[in-house]
Amino acid sequence: MQAVTPSIIHNFNAGPSILPKEVMEQAAAAILNFNNSGLSILELGHRTPEFTAVMEEAKALVKELMKLDDHHQVLFLHGGASTQFMQVPMNLLDQKETAAYADTGVWSSKAIKEAKLFGKVDIVCSSKEKNYNCIPTDFAVPNDAKYFHITTNNTIYGTQWQRIPQTSNVMVADMSSDILSRELDFNAFGLIYAGAQKNIGPAGVNLLVVNEQILGKTKRNLPTMMDYRNHIAEGSMLNTPPVFAVYVCLLTLRWLKALGGVAAIEKINNEKAALLYDEIDSNDLFTTQVVKKDRSKMNVCFTMKDSHLEIPFLEYAKANGIVGIKGHRLAGGFRASLYNAMPISSVQYLVDLMRNFKQSAA
Ligand SMILES: *Cc1c(COP(=O)(O)O)cnc(C)c1O
Repeated sequence: MQAVTPSIIHNFNAGPSILPKEVMEQAAAAILNFNNSGLSILELGHRTPEFTAVMEEAKALVKELMKLDDHHQVLFLHGGASTQFMQVPMNLLDQKETAAYADTGVWSSKAIKEAKLFGKVDIVCSSKEKNYNCIPTDFAVPNDAKYFHITTNNTIYGTQWQRIPQTSNVMVADMSSDILSRELDFNAFGLIYAGAQKNIGPAGVNLLVVNEQILGKTKRNLPTMMDYRNHIAEGSMLNTPPVFAVYVCLLTLRWLKALGGVAAIEKINNEKAALLYDEIDSNDLFTTQVVKKDRSKMNVCFTMKDSHLEIPFLEYAKANGIVGIKGHRLAGGFRASLYNAMPISSVQYLVDLMRNFKQSAA
């Protein structure tokens, strides 16, 4: 018998991931007719006044939502977060200098691998031996490290820096999976990057925030497209930007502002995470390997005490319209991503299914 497709889908994908429904409706309309121009956003020249206005508003909204000062520049770049693994050390680190890195998961270790191509890397702390189930404590960052790189939220293992370490170094952060999800002193960072496809838009664009005072201090000759200063000078239009992806980011940023900004979404994100972790803690079928104080509010990783129940639960969830909760192959179990656009009603729905499953298993 053909399975019936549930009428409502609850999308817990880790990335690309859920976007607000109204954003998708507006994006769909703009594909047919952008701002009553008679043209699709897909066929609009990037130097037109229409698109220049999109880019300017998107940058201004990032500045406003993150409360950035005038030294911090906003760029929308190609290549995803992974390109930043190399572009950051290329711009900030000379071959004989050292950069400090925290190793807290798959994405951090990829960043470390790339940095080693451009200078020395000091891994000042690592949770690798604990299978990345926590955020390291008790470490020191040498004063002469050119910068200190952290991954604020570890998408695959479900841990998150709840407090940003205070050091005298230039702070660099990969915020791909928790950007704009909580209030932070974003001006305290020298550089922030985030692939858009987790929390701010579709795949194909990377948001970068950089304090221009930290640039231009290496002796390296940089290829034109790799030098942040060229992108800043051209207002993030050094070459053709990913026009549609930037537009959808703008729609999401407008949505976030209308909702009350970062402080408002943080409150909702806290409620969503508490709802799901409370169920994991109280439902005796479920558990989590992640150390409590380091639990991510964006990617909730959990397992079942009896691993034989994992496939049946996954099937049950799927049959009831839940998408994307299978854990990453390296972490196993389940992962429910609760990005900004995830409504609390969907989290409640998942929690209800976990309860029903327990009752039917009893
Ligand atoms: C998804 C992710 C990346 C990789 O992003 P791409 O845009 O695919 O390169 C890097 N870092 C973190 C923390 C991520 O979650």
